[in-house]
Amino acid sequence: MPADIQPDAFRIDVAEADEHIAGALQNWGTEHVPLVAAAGQVLRQTIVAERDQPPFDRATMDGIAVASAALAQGQREFTLAGTQAAGQAAQSLPDNNSCLETMTGAVMPAGADTMIPVERISIANGIATLEEGYEATSQQFVHPRGSDHQQNDELLTPGIRINAPDMAILTAAGNTEVEIARWPEVAIVSTGDELVDVGEPLADFQIRSSNDRAIETALNAHGCHSTLRARLPDDPDALRAHISELHASNDVLILSGGVSMGKYDYVPGILEELGIKLVFHKILQRPGLPMWFGVSQDGKPVFALPGNPVSTLVCLVRYVRPAIETAMGCLPTPEYVQLDNAVDFKPDLCWFLPVALRQHADGRYTAEPRPTNTSGDFIGLRGTDGFVELPRGRDQFEAGYSARLYRW
Ligand code: AMP
Ligand code: MG
Repeated sequence: MPADIQPDAFRIDVAEADEHIAGALQNWGTEHVPLVAAAGQVLRQTIVAERDQPPFDRATMDGIAVASAALAQGQREFTLAGTQAAGQAAQSLPDNNSCLETMTGAVMPAGADTMIPVERISIANGIATLEEGYEATSQQFVHPRGSDHQQNDELLTPGIRINAPDMAILTAAGNTEVEIARWPEVAIVSTGDELVDVGEPLADFQIRSSNDRAIETALNAHGCHSTLRARLPDDPDALRAHISELHASNDVLILSGGVSMGKYDYVPGILEELGIKLVFHKILQRPGLPMWFGVSQDGKPVFALPGNPVSTLVCLVRYVRPAIETAMGCLPTPEYVQLDNAVDFKPDLCWFLPVALRQHADGRYTAEPRPTNTSGDFIGLRGTDGFVELPRGRDQFEAGYSARLYRW
């Protein structure tokens, strides 16, 4: 805990919260996984080229392979001396009067350096004749060995999220396994006496516990599958026992609910009793002002998020998920978007405003503000792509204002 943060510290701003969280998180190491399990994960090794690319002079058209020296001397007819298919070892031109029918992807035959496309020749009696007036240039339709990259060149560097082109590169580089960042084991804990899971009967005064599944989905969507969900009542003994257990068997705890000023908001007190040191409580933001963050003696982070569903998800996507990914060595890829229309916001708080992205005919994306009724109105998030961050210090944001975008 930074020395200047006292146990009752609160109302820091969003940038300070980021710094405190980043300063408290360690990574969870790496693991080697088969290629198939690496899709969407964070690469943690440098990938070098196994071979030159292309690994041989490669024909890029179906046609005949000839020697440009013969073309330079005005030769227009070539004796067909055989066929060079993709996947065959290189053959040789017997002499400069000859050609080999050569297919896209094949090795250029020894002695040939130029491809004449099949559309530009006619074949009769074992002789290929170039189309009248057709001028070929030396080396045409040949992809020279090593022209894309050379053996041992760096192809991929740590910190990227492995996408489809990266997977092609990993495969071409001959890797059967890849070193990726290990996700932490995450316990997602909903607290509240009113919460009932799906599939269980529900009284009029109870509600479905949706936060845990929303959090899990947001983590799963980024490739984290080491999550478990738990639901706990507003009961100090139960909270103490179960949070202690979950903390021992997981790397990260994410709680929702019970962090505000209500009579039954036991979570911060219980966490501190369990030796989780407060780093901050409350951020100058809406929604999600009562967010609590602490770290245990053994360095495990504990995020206790306010229970209102919009607050929970905004805090998760704004702080928790990026902090975990940054600790894992994932390089940030911040996105910005312009507001579609002007919005006002009087409170001296950072405002996380839900938005729906709209693409325009000129290719621009803009963000259509979709404020929810309250931070409990999670149905109001339907159709949104995420939210923009509108900083403190001004109460009007004009149409076209460029804001940082966080996607769900
Ligand atoms: P709290 O932060 O505990 O004061 O809860 C704030 C509001 O969020 C209350 O209306 C709760 O019923 C609701 N809430 C808390 N946890 C959940 C949850 N897991 N799923 C859905 N709503 C919740
Ligand atoms: Mg509650």
